[in-house]
Amino acid sequence: MQLTRRNFLAGSLSMAALALTACGGGSSNGGSSDAAPEAKVYKIATDTTFAPFEYAEADGTYVGIDVELLAAIAADQGFQYELEPLGFDAALQAVQSGQSDGVIAGMSITDARREIFDFSQPYYDSTVCAAVADATIASLDDLNGKTVAVKTGTMSEAWAESLKDQYGFTTVQFDTSDIMYQDVVAGNTAACFEDTPVMSYAIATGNVALTIIAEAASDSEFATPYGFAVNKGANPELLAAFDAGLANIKANGTYDQIVGTYVQSVG
Ligand code: GLN
Repeated sequence: MQLTRRNFLAGSLSMAALALTACGGGSSNGGSSDAAPEAKVYKIATDTTFAPFEYAEADGTYVGIDVELLAAIAADQGFQYELEPLGFDAALQAVQSGQSDGVIAGMSITDARREIFDFSQPYYDSTVCAAVADATIASLDDLNGKTVAVKTGTMSEAWAESLKDQYGFTTVQFDTSDIMYQDVVAGNTAACFEDTPVMSYAIATGNVALTIIAEAASDSEFATPYGFAVNKGANPELLAAFDAGLANIKANGTYDQIVGTYVQSVG
């Protein structure tokens, strides 16, 4: 894992060095009109804390499956970008308002979102779950009369909303996954609703003492894969580059290597 991250960082640094070299070359010819136009630097919004897809290491460096896939795809396709860890709901809003060019944030591809965004090919299968800290809560039936934690604007929130009347619970919103988990661990809320790969990773790495008690059916509308997205009709060249790069890194083994780094690390 360390080795992969170092390689990844080294790659980013050498790309930055190349960019600086290119700028230096431009100014040394006196800024003449034949200087190449500066390449666009896409702003790609992401979540803040959504391991193993995107999360900050102790020094603030962002790592994770999404972060490394984007880096590999950009290198393959030769586009430049800046990663903007805004939070999930804020990232979607930034793309909708045109402040960001794209979003990669473990974002589930849904029909409702297809009205607003254009999605890449799916790159990771997912579903949603409910998790608890209190061992006396063994199933959704035990949530009757209780308050549960959900993450604003997410698929798992939609799943919780679809269940709350049937099971008799109410929901309270959080902007980030880590704060949401802590609320359950502290006993303020009885359960949290989250993407299964993310909840499983947090539990397997020992980061939170929670247990999954329920999962949406794999054939339900809540079990849909992740995609990279742009605002509908915007940045079609970026979307095409993402898809082309994704196909290339799947074909050459880079995709499996990146995913394997994170998934194998939890055994
Ligand atoms: N996959 C979920 C969604 O798209 C959650 C994403 C996230 O929290 N980053 O709604």
